Amino acid sequence: MSGYDYDLFTIGAGSGGVRASRMAASLGARVAIAEERYMGGTCVNAGCIPKKLFAYAGHYGEDFEDAVGFGWQRPVASFDWPLLVANKDKEILRLNGVYERLLVAAGVGVMRARARVLDPHTVEVDGRRISARHILVATGGWPVVPDIPGKQWAITSNEAFHLPVLPRSVVVVGGGYIAVEFASIFHGLGVQTLLSYRGDCLLKVFDADLGSFLGAEMRKKGVRIELRSHIEAIERRGERLACSFSGGQVVETDAVMYATGRAPHTRGLGLEDAGVELAANGAVLVDDHFQTSVASVHAIGDAIHRVQLTPVALAEAMVVADRLFGDGRRTLDYRNVATAVFSNPNVGTVGLSEAQARDAYADIEIYRTTFTPLKHRLSGRAENTLMKLVVDKASDRVLGVHMVGAEAGEIIQGFAVALTCGATKRQFDATIGIHPTAAEEFVTLREPVSQ
Ligand code: NDP
Repeated sequence: MSGYDYDLFTIGAGSGGVRASRMAASLGARVAIAEERYMGGTCVNAGCIPKKLFAYAGHYGEDFEDAVGFGWQRPVASFDWPLLVANKDKEILRLNGVYERLLVAAGVGVMRARARVLDPHTVEVDGRRISARHILVATGGWPVVPDIPGKQWAITSNEAFHLPVLPRSVVVVGGGYIAVEFASIFHGLGVQTLLSYRGDCLLKVFDADLGSFLGAEMRKKGVRIELRSHIEAIERRGERLACSFSGGQVVETDAVMYATGRAPHTRGLGLEDAGVELAANGAVLVDDHFQTSVASVHAIGDAIHRVQLTPVALAEAMVVADRLFGDGRRTLDYRNVATAVFSNPNVGTVGLSEAQARDAYADIEIYRTTFTPLKHRLSGRAENTLMKLVVDKASDRVLGVHMVGAEAGEIIQGFAVALTCGATKRQFDATIGIHPTAAEEFVTLREPVSQ
């Protein structure tokens, strides 16, 4: 196919890199992939998968309590953190093997080493120069901790997955996905948890109702949430850490975890020397086809810092493989990417927020309901669910579906199909609900609450 060693050389065996490599190989390309850290990347090793396992663990404490209202005697539950970490690591090891076997079975050459780009068609791996017709940068991202005195005492999600001992107290900093997920996990495991966020409303990239409703539910459960809160310094005091807040307050805690965003993991890869342009935050700049400023170099996933979600990286990977080795017809539409936050309770969302819809459409209708789920009628738990629809009045199209409540991610996935198909409110209304479920509320919302 070419005079190069490979048709495609992928740097990074995370979700995007593995998918692009397998797909390219299935289209007949000669492919190699280099991975310096762990097979499967962030999602498998320090993200989605271990986080969801921890989120399940965190929920059991409530499940035991809830069972009492259904006639169960409450078990004497004690929690074994090292066992959870070990079992999680076992599952990750299994998945590492699955990823490697998938690559090998597809005929992809796997190199367990760091790769560096030397020029538009050459990478260096373990001191060896390898030529490739195309290079794909899929190196993911890495947590960022702001530069404050004592930042070296803080952990990030990377370390939280491997703590030798579960702290008795934790301060979690941030108001995004990872902050609310880990605050929920720690609290669920019995850790005294303070969530410190600099803004007014958690999860600010979503519909504002989601963050404020989630914050209220988390507070009810006992998570302390401080808004407009800034840590100025962290100091070590024996075994403990002291966080100094801007108002003068000092909070002593066992651990401080920063969840203040993730930056593209692209430095030191030789990209700039090879002519590949990066943004100030390290994001590889790409066009609509994921091509960089160097024609033979493409980039996808967290390395381009568009949408930091595994399924999006997978979709980007498919577009690149198809463009380079297929018929090039595959495209990617970033609208209506559904997403879930595995906080307790969960958040699920797809489409436009109320604020985005008000900006883009002349006349919108909002349908909104809050209710106590049936289960909690007997459990006695004071947890409510929020559901919200944003509708364009002129076309009757449903623009956004938003939820805070149990299994929100599972529920919103189906509604994402409806939005992708352009469903109207009338079609939602014509859909027969499944009773008794929470999800049926989305097809029985009759009266708009505001216009
Ligand atoms: P997010 O971008 O979601 O949130 C970062 C948070 O940190 C924001 O609340 C931000 O505040 C705050 N922040 C940023 N800089 C500072 C600073 N200097 N000082 C104080 N606070 C600061 O990032 P995460 O780290 O939570 O997660 C990274 C990405 O990973 C997510 O955006 C998401 O795409 C992905 N992810 C997806 C998950 C899922 O699908 N369930 C789970 C976890 C992560 P402000 O709001 O004011 O900007």
